[in-house]
Amino acid sequence: MTEKRMDYLSRLPTVVPAGQVLVHNHVRPTRRLGFRGFRAWLADPDPARLIVCECAWAPKLGEHYRVNR
Ligand SMILES: [Zn+2]
Repeated sequence: MTEKRMDYLSRLPTVVPAGQVLVHNHVRPTRRLGFRGFRAWLADPDPARLIVCECAWAPKLGEHYRVNR
């Protein structure tokens, strides 16, 4: 499996691009991206690694995912 270069978001997009999902890491979401190690990025859907997250972060962007550990 090729590991794609990952770009952390410095701000939230207005919409999640078609075919991609919004993902954040295991750190509890903070209001500011990058704060206390909280990171988010856009990724290709990957059911083996990403699970739907119910934390209510970024409600405007609909469903988001987190990394399954
Ligand atoms: Zn979440």
